[in-house]
Amino acid sequence: MTAIAWEPVIGLEVHAQLLTASKLFCGCSTRFGAAPNTNVCPVCLGMPGALPVTNRKAVQIAIRVGLALGCTVRPTSVFARKNYFYPDLPKGYQISQYELPIDEHGVIEIDVGDVRRRVRVVRAHLEEDAGKNVHLESRPVSLVDCNRTGVPLLEIVTGPDLRSAQEASTLLEHLREILMALGANDGNLEEGSFRCDANVSVRRAGDETLGTRTELKNINSFKFVRNAIDHEIARQIAVLEGGGTLRQETRTWNDARGETTVLRTKEEADDYRYFPDPDLPPLVVDPAWIEEIRAGLPELPAARRARFVETLGLSTHDAGVLTSHQRVAEYFEVALASGGDPLARGKPIANWVVNAVLGATAFDALDARFPVPPETIGELQGLVERGELSLTSARKVLDECAATGATPARVVEEGGLRQVSDVAALEAVCQKVVAEHPRELAELRGGKDKLFGFFVGQVMRATKGQANPQVVNDVLRRLLQT
Ligand code: ADP
Ligand code: MG
Ligand code: ZN
Repeated sequence: MTAIAWEPVIGLEVHAQLLTASKLFCGCSTRFGAAPNTNVCPVCLGMPGALPVTNRKAVQIAIRVGLALGCTVRPTSVFARKNYFYPDLPKGYQISQYELPIDEHGVIEIDVGDVRRRVRVVRAHLEEDAGKNVHLESRPVSLVDCNRTGVPLLEIVTGPDLRSAQEASTLLEHLREILMALGANDGNLEEGSFRCDANVSVRRAGDETLGTRTELKNINSFKFVRNAIDHEIARQIAVLEGGGTLRQETRTWNDARGETTVLRTKEEADDYRYFPDPDLPPLVVDPAWIEEIRAGLPELPAARRARFVETLGLSTHDAGVLTSHQRVAEYFEVALASGGDPLARGKPIANWVVNAVLGATAFDALDARFPVPPETIGELQGLVERGELSLTSARKVLDECAATGATPARVVEEGGLRQVSDVAALEAVCQKVVAEHPRELAELRGGKDKLFGFFVGQVMRATKGQANPQVVNDVLRRLLQT
């Protein structure tokens, strides 16, 4: 029997908390970490008679994200009630958008290895977050904290267009970067302000129809995303190859056990009895406002990557590395502008950042800590460009800056590392070296060309490596007439 090739199919639902000061339908603060149940009011606690008022800033951010993802922004969208019971939902329903979401039909492009994937953004809609149940270990009780109740979320739903756990995590990293670049979200997976559910199914390679999917919850790190999806793909294949059938269900990733376990059978949309919220009028946005928001969009990672290739002459590889994280890109741009002409030094600065800085740093997508500030890289390269420092010395200076926090100029001064490019000064040293080695000089003149290197080496030794090698070469060639 030949093994059947299975194709994984993945679609993501990302919940991104929008960076507003107040909640989606009331004036309560969205601040994380406040004492339980202090950021609450009759509206977000669902007291009878309290009426919601939509937060303009949340709508603005939702439009901004939609435009950045190439979505069509609906001039009229509708808030709907999603009804269900859970202790962290005091109203008994969540205000969301259902049939008419604010953003639709966008696309996110990702590169994974040699594959470029266009992942559809089916929709992105505004909704309010629920509260949090707090389970105590000391006593057999659960508590409810409603501080998060009513905090604005944008739920971004992709098409079932991803084909591996790697593609899913790449998409998430990319989306997170875009949201952060837009100032829409703080990208904090641990605090739950950027969360993701992954829908996973498998089908026989070549099949057109989609297989039965499960929805994975509780994945709050990029590592979990990959592990949970890989594990779920393997589990589904094992069930199908064993002759079993899959159930559409919601599963949760248990990192300690390294497996997904059933949470509940999947509810259908019908179970939620969605209907337009009678307390909220349709959300009508002025097309002029949409255009104003579009005009104010910042440069996004993909555009920045293209600019690095086109105007700075970087390789696609370097441009990709430098734009895959907002903080790396900003680091690079500051280094570029420090101590020299940004347009003329793209490649050397990219080399510094890609090799010396990222190579030396255990760079984590979530927590970039660089050993030196970007200005240091820019200044170092400036010293090299002006012939004041050799590239070899510059590497040593960087290590010293990283270890001590000193500026390059100071390390160079104190270490006596300044490169000597002064022709008259080097000529004097060269003449002395030549005069001290009459035998080698005679051999060189007699045709032993290799000895030229010997003289260069002697001059470098005499200057403790500080001579500019190019100048030494030129002066010696002239003196020795070779
Ligand atoms: P629901 O809102 O009930 O979770 P949706 O139809 O809106 O269902 O789909 C949610 C997500 O699941 C989307 O990202 C979609 O791409 C993905 N999805 C739907 N069907 C499948 C499938 N068979 N395999 C993998 N992903 C799927
Ligand atoms: Mg879902
Ligand atoms: Zn409130």
